[in-house]
Amino acid sequence: MNLTLESPVQYVPRVGPSMAGKLRNLGIRTVYDLLTYIPFRYDDYSLLSPIARVQPGETVTVVGTLASIKTFITKNGKRLVTARLTDASGSIDIIWFNQQYLVKVLSAGDTLSVSGKVNWFGPKLVFSSPVYEVIQKESEGKGSLHTGRLVPVYAETAGLSSKWLRGRIDYVLEHCLSSVVDYVPDEIIRSERLMDIREAIQTVHFPNSQEDANRARERLSFQELFVLLLRSYEQKRVWDTTLKSRPLTISVAIFDRFKKLLPFTLTADQQTAIAEIFADLARPIPMNRLLEGDVGSGKTVVAAAAMLAAYESQTSAILLAPTQILAQQHYETLSLIMEQHGISVELVLGGMKTHESKQVHPDTKRSARQATPRILVGTHALLTAKDLPKKIGLIVVDEQQRFGVNQRAELRKLTQTAFTPHQLTMTATPIPRTLAQTVFGNLDISVLRNSPSGRTPVKTWVVPQEKRAAAYAWIDKALHDTRSQAFIVCPLIDESESLLTVKAVRSEYDRLKRDVFPKRAIGLLHGRMKSDEKTAVLSDFRQKKYDILVATPVVEVGIDIPDATIIVIEAAERFGLSQLHQLRGRVGRSDKPSYCLLFTEGEDPEVRTRLKALETTHDGPTLAELDLTLRGPGELFGTRQHGLPGLTLARLTDIAMVARARRSVTLITGRDPDLAAFPHLREHINQSKIDTIKD
Ligand code: ADP
Ligand code: MG
Repeated sequence: MNLTLESPVQYVPRVGPSMAGKLRNLGIRTVYDLLTYIPFRYDDYSLLSPIARVQPGETVTVVGTLASIKTFITKNGKRLVTARLTDASGSIDIIWFNQQYLVKVLSAGDTLSVSGKVNWFGPKLVFSSPVYEVIQKESEGKGSLHTGRLVPVYAETAGLSSKWLRGRIDYVLEHCLSSVVDYVPDEIIRSERLMDIREAIQTVHFPNSQEDANRARERLSFQELFVLLLRSYEQKRVWDTTLKSRPLTISVAIFDRFKKLLPFTLTADQQTAIAEIFADLARPIPMNRLLEGDVGSGKTVVAAAAMLAAYESQTSAILLAPTQILAQQHYETLSLIMEQHGISVELVLGGMKTHESKQVHPDTKRSARQATPRILVGTHALLTAKDLPKKIGLIVVDEQQRFGVNQRAELRKLTQTAFTPHQLTMTATPIPRTLAQTVFGNLDISVLRNSPSGRTPVKTWVVPQEKRAAAYAWIDKALHDTRSQAFIVCPLIDESESLLTVKAVRSEYDRLKRDVFPKRAIGLLHGRMKSDEKTAVLSDFRQKKYDILVATPVVEVGIDIPDATIIVIEAAERFGLSQLHQLRGRVGRSDKPSYCLLFTEGEDPEVRTRLKALETTHDGPTLAELDLTLRGPGELFGTRQHGLPGLTLARLTDIAMVARARRSVTLITGRDPDLAAFPHLREHINQSKIDTIKD
């Protein structure tokens, strides 16, 4: 069969269904995916040496004839494979550990290229577990893949080795590379002095030098950013030119009453954000705005103002929260505000039909309910509820990056009506300006910078190992003297909240109970608990049945426990600064002084310096910018749910590269917004749009 770039990877010779399944775990489905699976580093085996000249400690490649190969059993019963390799200058021994099969694969007389480190073994120099490659007569002149050069090393998954991947990638390079088309316009390739795409793909796998590899990577990362920015430009253009929505307005009188009935005055930032939102809502183009503000900065009341505007304009408003606990919390807050205006709020949780939810009168006719405006709060379950209102004017999404894949698709479906609801997304993840202007160029952003007055910044200390005991004693006393409460946050052991993490947090909980705070009541909260168990633990904590809550970081963002004034974060070095800042935001929610203690595992002075930034800086976006430069965007957004498109090579922190890509996008779209003159590019952008919708 004829392989094309779109062929499923299983049709590549020596792949097959089972290996294809493993490749899928690496995100490789097609021949093209395999072709563009980028190595994460290279082993330098380019130093070729005659056997007699090898030096202890050096990494070299030698080529020789296998004189002998056999299994060897050591005095303590370990099985080794030993071999002797000979060239014109001399011979050297090779030892392989745990690779018994080699005696079946290799035999005396084979010509072998061997790369690895040479070391003393007793009185002799040997290669220990080197990589090897049998040099076949017929492949002479073709060059080696695994030895004697810069050798690509790929991220592997169980059952797939770099060596195997190298072989398959070499195959598709030979057979399919020529059909790759360059969708980056010629003039940009010329003006940006980029490598040809086919050369770049070939070189990124099998470079002749590190400089070559760098040039290939530069070309490929340029392309990633170029496409990313172009897509975000395109989204905004489509949004602005093809979507319609109902203009929503609120009368001055009603908004004044809204402000008057609040138990506080709006901060300047809140007023600005509301004004920006009202201006968006009044247009016949759907709003697509991000409301960014630290935990506790008062985003909910801003959302409430927008929802009231929707209601006053005879449309319904929906607020989506990522968890039941947060939905409940929003429901309570919004009810308090809306009731003053004679509006009742409905809560929809998983498993409940809207007509079973609170506040809805069962005798109301269904059509009537669809026609009259409503205010709904719920989790994603709401999106699939039966009798949703017909005229949805506004959707507010809290912490969208925490939404799973399917929910986002549901959200999209809901918005594909003749009138698109205006959309407001709230997030506590601070987005550094550099990112906001590039990747999120299709969003408008409002920021709540200052917390409502009355909050004192959380006093923060990085606690060295030797002060840990004293810190515990201080906490114990503080809990006793001021009747306040504490969070103790343990890190995730692995990315998802696996059983391993649960086990770790549970054993820390046992240790604290037994050895550290025997006199305090301690609760435990982790993401693997059932949702009603979580709710129960939190409500017990709020009612002060516990002094201390031991939790994993998935303890819900936005949880409001006013009497918690101390937060301890274990292994703080494992978190990004923004994430620590968000965790710390769970205290300092009342006028009492609050404290954040950062415990670290090691004594690395660099780690301490990084964490010390939290002692002096209490501003989310500044910390985010720091994170971005220190650790990159993956850290900032959490590796799994960062919501950033799949960049494999490019770094958003590479400001110069982002600027180059941006300049090129402006150049092209300024002249040709439809990309009519660039059919390959047009097709690629359409293609990647489909990818986004699928995900
Ligand atoms: P978040 O941005 O984390 O969602 P919330 O909207 O939950 O923050 O607000 C946090 C707390 O601050 C709430 O108790 C809210 O009533 C209060 N709050 C909001 N705005 C103000 C304000 N302007 N002045 C005083 N308190 C406010
Ligand atoms: Mg909130």
